[in-house]
Amino acid sequence: MSESPHIAIIGRGIAGLSAAFELVSRGFSVSLIGPLRTELSASHASQGVLSTKGHLLAESHAFRAKMHGQLTIKSWLAKIEKITGAEIRKDFSGVWEYFFSADEFATINKRVHRGEFSGCHRGKVSSKEEFYRDWYGKRLFKNDPIGSLFYPSDCWFDAQQTMSIMEDYFVKSGVTIHDQCVTDFSVKNEKIIIQTKLGHVFADEVVIAAGFESQQLLSKLELPLDLVPAAGQVIDFPLVDKVADRTFVKGASSFSVHCDRLRFGSISKKTEYYGSSDKLAGRLMLVEQLVDKMGISDELFNDSEIVDLVGIRARTRDRLPLIGPIHSERLGRRVFVFTGLYKNGLQLAHLCAFQIANILQGIDGVFSIEPFSPCRYS
Ligand SMILES: Cc1cc2nc3c(=O)[nH]c(=O)nc-3n(C[C@H](O)[C@H](O)[C@H](O)COP(=O)(O)OP(=O)(O)OC[C@H]3O[C@@H](n4cnc5c(N)ncnc54)[C@H](O)[C@@H]3O)c2cc1C
Repeated sequence: MSESPHIAIIGRGIAGLSAAFELVSRGFSVSLIGPLRTELSASHASQGVLSTKGHLLAESHAFRAKMHGQLTIKSWLAKIEKITGAEIRKDFSGVWEYFFSADEFATINKRVHRGEFSGCHRGKVSSKEEFYRDWYGKRLFKNDPIGSLFYPSDCWFDAQQTMSIMEDYFVKSGVTIHDQCVTDFSVKNEKIIIQTKLGHVFADEVVIAAGFESQQLLSKLELPLDLVPAAGQVIDFPLVDKVADRTFVKGASSFSVHCDRLRFGSISKKTEYYGSSDKLAGRLMLVEQLVDKMGISDELFNDSEIVDLVGIRARTRDRLPLIGPIHSERLGRRVFVFTGLYKNGLQLAHLCAFQIANILQGIDGVFSIEPFSPCRYS
């Protein structure tokens, strides 16, 4: 094998693109394989909110990785901006959790400060005036919140735009892109042959970052890694009235108001209702949640302009990502797996990409990948 192996990356979601970007920036020769967008790819439906809230135990590996991802996302986006010269839409001014009554405040406060929702920030309570200081009197809410909690390190970025910026950069820097699905693998003369619907690609190493479909590809290699599909849906629409850019959370739900658009989704346990088979039912449920639970004024949007974004998130049985090499008996060599990002892909993709690039370069990673290794299931 030559000193700089040629790496084939399968999947053009946030995982595959982040791995490709990191590897190209370290001087690796890379081919990207996969369609630009498939109907259910998770990254194209993602909301863009990075928050440490959720039902994750603070001492768990997933939580630590999520925190680490959140703390490093700013420098990762800055790196993309520096290399590509493009500006990414993002908001690092913190995230707000508003409340309409003293009871509601007590509930949030209990959750945040007593750690019922492990991993919550110790939010700073702000007054109604502070909350509204730059809103110029525009009404986003049906009733005025009486105050809010502020989480300074939660943030938002435009994941879809970031992926487009990376794609443009790959085209300019001569990365070969094969806009086709992979169907099988074989080995010849020490090279991995990646079969696509229209031809084949040779590589020294392969990274399988095909989201939920990674399971299908791994089964071709007789590596039965069991992923659970978790459907997710967001709604995105233009606001009738311009309000200041801001990101909000309320319990397990979040929404962002950026560039005159509002994007809302939910990570609540009800996500089975948001399956692709019933986008309309999912949309109605999200609109209802937005108006009732989140308190948004329904005068601010027009139903006919709502865009539904649906995606399948790949969840492992223990909810930890799958990253790193695994030995394929069928090929007689290792392949890299990079999937299982579930609902935290935007927070974890760049970190996992570093780990894979580090392994390929033979240097120590930023954290031990042992808990995330695909070998834990084999
Ligand atoms: C509605 C929704 C909202 C979300 N919001 C957030 C959020 O706010 N914050 C956050 O951190 N995370 C969020 N997530 C989760 C996040 O989007 C995912 O964890 C992440 O996008 C997974 O990225 P991925 O690249 O692993 O998979 P995907 O985005 O699914 O990409 C997989 C890629 O592989 C390609 N592919 C499939 N089969 C093949 C094949 N045979 N050959 C070649 N290519 C193939 C597909 O075309 C696709 O491009 C959300 C997810 C959803 C669905």
